[in-house]
Amino acid sequence: MCSAGGPMEIEILDLEERDYRCVGCGERFKSTLDKPTCPACGSKDVVTEDA
Ligand SMILES: [Zn+2]
Repeated sequence: MCSAGGPMEIEILDLEERDYRCVGCGERFKSTLDKPTCPACGSKDVVTEDA
């Protein structure tokens, strides 16, 4: 069941989770932090990708 067409279901968590992208290496990740660091390269040069 539940394999219907919608590819993405956004789960709203208690904390607001945002999409970020690392400017340095292009890594995409989610974080609830205001100023997260890239999990891949550790850079703080990240931008939000809120849709
Ligand atoms: Zn990075």
